[in-house]
Amino acid sequence: MSKSVGGLSSIKYSLSVANKVGYANFWKSIRSKNTCKTCAYGMGGQSGGMRNEVGTGLEICKKSIQAQLTDIQKGIPVEFYSDNQVEEIKKLKPRELEMLGRLNNPLYKNTGDKHYTVISWEEAYSKIVETLIRTDADDVFFYASGRSSNEAAFVLQLFARLYGTNNVNNCSYYCHQASGVGLNSIIGSGTATLELDDLKQSDLIFVFGANPSSNHPRFLTELMHCRRRGGSVVIVNPMKEPGLVRFAIPSDLRSMIGGGSDIASHYIQPNIGGDIAFIQGMAKCVIGKDAVEHEFINNCTNEYEAHKKHIEGVAWEDIEVSSGVSKETIEDIAELYCKAKNVVFAWSMGITHHLHGVENVESIANLAMLRGMLGKRYAGLLPLRGHSNVQGIGSIGVTPALKEKVFQNLESHLGVKLPETQGMDTMSCIEAANTGDINAAFILGGNLLGANPNRTFAEESLNKIPFKVFMSTTFNESHFNGVDKEVIVLPCIARDEEKQATTQESMFNFVRMSDGGSVRLENARSEVDIICSIAEDIIDKEMVDFGHFKDHSNIRNAIAATIPGLSGLADIDETKREFQIEGRVFHEPLFATPDKKANFKVINLPISNLNGKENTFNLMSVRSEGQFNTIIYEEHDLFRGQSERWIVLMNFLDIKRINMNENDLVDVVNETGVMKAVKIRSFDIKAGNVMCYFPEANVLISKDVDRRSRTPGFKSTVVQLFPV
Ligand code: SF4
Repeated sequence: MSKSVGGLSSIKYSLSVANKVGYANFWKSIRSKNTCKTCAYGMGGQSGGMRNEVGTGLEICKKSIQAQLTDIQKGIPVEFYSDNQVEEIKKLKPRELEMLGRLNNPLYKNTGDKHYTVISWEEAYSKIVETLIRTDADDVFFYASGRSSNEAAFVLQLFARLYGTNNVNNCSYYCHQASGVGLNSIIGSGTATLELDDLKQSDLIFVFGANPSSNHPRFLTELMHCRRRGGSVVIVNPMKEPGLVRFAIPSDLRSMIGGGSDIASHYIQPNIGGDIAFIQGMAKCVIGKDAVEHEFINNCTNEYEAHKKHIEGVAWEDIEVSSGVSKETIEDIAELYCKAKNVVFAWSMGITHHLHGVENVESIANLAMLRGMLGKRYAGLLPLRGHSNVQGIGSIGVTPALKEKVFQNLESHLGVKLPETQGMDTMSCIEAANTGDINAAFILGGNLLGANPNRTFAEESLNKIPFKVFMSTTFNESHFNGVDKEVIVLPCIARDEEKQATTQESMFNFVRMSDGGSVRLENARSEVDIICSIAEDIIDKEMVDFGHFKDHSNIRNAIAATIPGLSGLADIDETKREFQIEGRVFHEPLFATPDKKANFKVINLPISNLNGKENTFNLMSVRSEGQFNTIIYEEHDLFRGQSERWIVLMNFLDIKRINMNENDLVDVVNETGVMKAVKIRSFDIKAGNVMCYFPEANVLISKDVDRRSRTPGFKSTVVQLFPV
């Protein structure tokens, strides 16, 4: 039996945090009626912290508590800024920056200044307003991370458009955009097709390219229950993640005293980028056995014959080479699939972080459709999305192009004319900055520098922007790198500190309301308040009165009237009724496409980028257990048993093949950049493939993007290793 991870370490961590901040404080904080600030699985809201929409509770999640700990910090004292130069602070590790404390004062740094200086809110606002007024709107971009509320996102995108630009985008361009694009092309809707409750009766769950033990911990509870009721869990991941083999679920006594619970019933380790081949191998088996759901396919889908012909024409040899998985193994998994009644397909960025990310998503959907696992209960498609409100930010319109219906609704409801120019996605903004075509950037949350591929290019680009505004709760490397020119940092409060309620949308399309509550900092402000204060000095009140939107319920009314599926926000202040967004969950095989049918796609196997040079490997960049996106809470990676981050994880056969030993140092090199003197660590990863941590490995990730989703290939780059 494999050793389990999780469980006790989560409980110990929680107790250590409680000890640090005081048990009463800790309990109040985690039980408050606020949405979990971390991942988009969704927890909290009006049911209270540690509970979900199907009433499960009380679940301890280390990820959630890590985020709380950061926010509970005291404000950074004003002397810090005069005592420390930007060049000095810049040397701190991301974790050290995060732990400097909370931002509690507006900060200003002019070109050539060595320090940030504390300024008043009035001064900060007037500098921003003056700059935006004299800048051409299309030379400005507005970016939001997925941690902000629906309310802040709505006023941000509305302000940007009324100001005159569609250069509005969000962090999903660097994570799950491919899921939205792929799902839209298949079913006309870009989000999960099922709700949380559906997981409770599925008898087979596939998890592609994800490590929920670190990134969506409570999903593990559902995987465990699937196994306990006799179902199967198939993990498809080049790395054998200990947390997906056996995990001790902190809220489950049986799991805790039994030394953990089995998670994977089958663990498939394909090559990086080998998912399409693996899936097409399975499709070949399903079609070959005639195990397809003919009634569903005939009545509810298009283009099946083209898909079938394509799959029949793909050679097993190509499938085995591309996937790295044997025909026998693929046949076994296909057999399992053919016998299952209710199958869920979950995936994360191991699927989307490729230059063929959209095709990866479409391939999964193709496989689901073959057996009619779309448009019914207890089955369907589930992108495991990252930040707690990243889906909501997109729904609300923080995107370069608004959906046609939203565009029309906004114009008619508000009586305004919105720009129709082509807006830029995130990478286009960074590229435009590099050519000197961006004169100002308005950045709501996140760590834009850390999130970007090709770190050198990104820093150079951000350095060229003459005026940047950050709205942040804590420092990160974006505040100290790429900041040669004028910068303003505005301190904002976290969602559980808001004076008015805010709302968030989970990856299950469930909308929660956060009450806010604890005032921790005297001089930080609400994101909505900040955006509206700036907007009301720029946008004519006759057009839209942003002062009116300082009352969050007025924003919710506007969202309810303009964003399809969110009408439930109109009375949520009175009813406190959280809700499932209409039209997103497909329990019947009637999809959101014009003819209500789902569309099969013909997808070619991706071409390998391995160039045959000596010591060449496919590299994926991944997050650790002590990390959430770009935020690094702990240097060690508990579940993978690693104590540092400047490492490359390799199969021991590959280490031998290149005549090296564990703990030797190598330079990891490609045409984008180099990671110097990286320590080799042996790990159970598919031979021929290696792993480094994100965001350190961003220096190696090219700024090339998937043509359809505009997402970079964070998990598909080729590197060469050279002994130091
Ligand atoms: S699984 Fe995600 S949403 Fe749930 S508690 Fe953990 S971090 Fe929060």
